Amino acid sequence: MRVGVLALQGDFALHAELLQGLGVDVLMVRRPGDFEPCDALVVPGGESTVLHRLLRINDMLDPLVEFAANKPLMGTCAGCILMATSLEDAGGVEPMGLIDITVRRNGYGRQVDSFEAQLTPVVEGFNSEEGAPCGVFIRAPRITRTGQGVEIVACYQQEPVAVRAGSHFALTFHPEVARDARWHDWWLRTL
Ligand code: GLN
Repeated sequence: MRVGVLALQGDFALHAELLQGLGVDVLMVRRPGDFEPCDALVVPGGESTVLHRLLRINDMLDPLVEFAANKPLMGTCAGCILMATSLEDAGGVEPMGLIDITVRRNGYGRQVDSFEAQLTPVVEGFNSEEGAPCGVFIRAPRITRTGQGVEIVACYQQEPVAVRAGSHFALTFHPEVARDARWHDWWLRTL
């Protein structure tokens, strides 16, 4: 399996490292033609307004939407924002509507309000043997609504922070910063 990592902005290198650790063939995606050879794609965290602008400038928005119509996407933080149906504080970002959720982009406040929390995945097949995963929330978005058919994968204080719809998987926190490959591993095993 060949997994692309969108490498325009944000912490794409950490995602690539984790995926390589899982024995996955990783391809950095920087141009429109880079999507084609990938079987799945990770959209990293960073800053969604910047990421969205870079996608547009590089003519990658439509190819990304086309890719996501047929292939699985995993998005963390800014990636999750781009995958939503609607945003409460869009700031110019037009989300792709891949998972029926409403997201508040800076839902927990500003950079100084970033935090870490232990999470409890509520899905089958997640490897919890090594203990509860740590969620690193950096100027994190908040999922304020989940539509029908959206499966909740993990919660923090009763709110969903990881959700799945079909083969698309979105997390509001950064598993790659916690160096925790179990989320990627779980997602890839469900495909
Ligand atoms: N809130 C940020 C945004 O709007 C996301 C922050 C992150 O990816 N760590 O993109």
